[in-house]
Amino acid sequence: MKPSPRQLVDGLLAGDRAALARAITLAESSLPRHKELAEEVLERCLPHAGGATRLGITGVPGVGKSTFVDALGVHLVRDREETVAVLAVDPSSPVHGGSILGDKTRMPRLASDPRAFIRPSPSGGSLGGVARATRQAILLCEAAGYRNILVETVGVGQSEVAVADMTDCFLLLMLPGAGDELQGVKRGIMELVDLVIINKADGGNVDRAARARRDYESALHLFPPAPHGWAPVVSVCSAQEGRGVREAWEIVLRHRAHMQASGWLLRRRAGQARRWLFELIEGHLREAFLQSASVRDRMPEVEALVETGALSPLRAARQLLEAWNPAGKR
Ligand code: GDP
Repeated sequence: MKPSPRQLVDGLLAGDRAALARAITLAESSLPRHKELAEEVLERCLPHAGGATRLGITGVPGVGKSTFVDALGVHLVRDREETVAVLAVDPSSPVHGGSILGDKTRMPRLASDPRAFIRPSPSGGSLGGVARATRQAILLCEAAGYRNILVETVGVGQSEVAVADMTDCFLLLMLPGAGDELQGVKRGIMELVDLVIINKADGGNVDRAARARRDYESALHLFPPAPHGWAPVVSVCSAQEGRGVREAWEIVLRHRAHMQASGWLLRRRAGQARRWLFELIEGHLREAFLQSASVRDRMPEVEALVETGALSPLRAARQLLEAWNPAGKR
């Protein structure tokens, strides 16, 4: 028998990983019944959520995100006796095969630790859907007692913006000798970043990493100071050898202390909550619109007319919105 939302929440709050996994599965589902259940579970969990340090991590494929998350996670659970949940936002992630962010096999050491919970990216959805599910997963993990949440995403597309908007601190992993690449880094991303870590600073790369660090530091100085007064910090590490990982976490903690003392952590989270509200409203409106009988009946014809150019998208949108009659008034 399936557990009721209350049973699920009781299990989750008691630290039952199966209950947590099940609650996240509900949050990822697109079935209306599951969504309702997920909302009920989340409502009950909210009073117990919010306490974790939420760190977003991005970087191009191959930069070492999984290796870094594994090393950082192991540092947190073993050296600091912390708990950690690893989540991912990767709308491109395939259902089977390929490289999946947050995949346990890519974090072998961390995956075997009872103080860690690893969950791959929800798959096969739009960025909006994937981000919505992960936002909820963060809160569920917090209610289940995880004190640190690491959310990884690939360094392409809009997913970084989504992850920066659900975390307290945003970390960009880069490769050494990437002075020229700096130009390639989207300006928008640099504005989101609180911490740049140059990974693979080992073997013959140590000097190049140090040079890259200086390059990034001077480049970041060119950005106007952020209103919260935190200037992005650049550091180096070798995720593979575990060097610089402790230092990276110390910077995350320094950032947190700065944001807390200045009141900006609360402001950042307040802004995130407000934007989440509007995302939810937009999602509900879109669904109600697309599922209403009057719109569903007309949609195929209108789409065909728009495709042939017989009807402009502007007119078509207006006609459909007028045909939609949510309040039942005519
Ligand atoms: P991701 O795609 O960003 O998750 O990158 P991975 O963590 O899968 O790492 C990509 C490759 O780089 C793997 O072969 C890793 O072993 C290697 N790698 C990761 N971190 C380091 C590092 O600090 N030093 C070196 N030399 N190689 C690394």
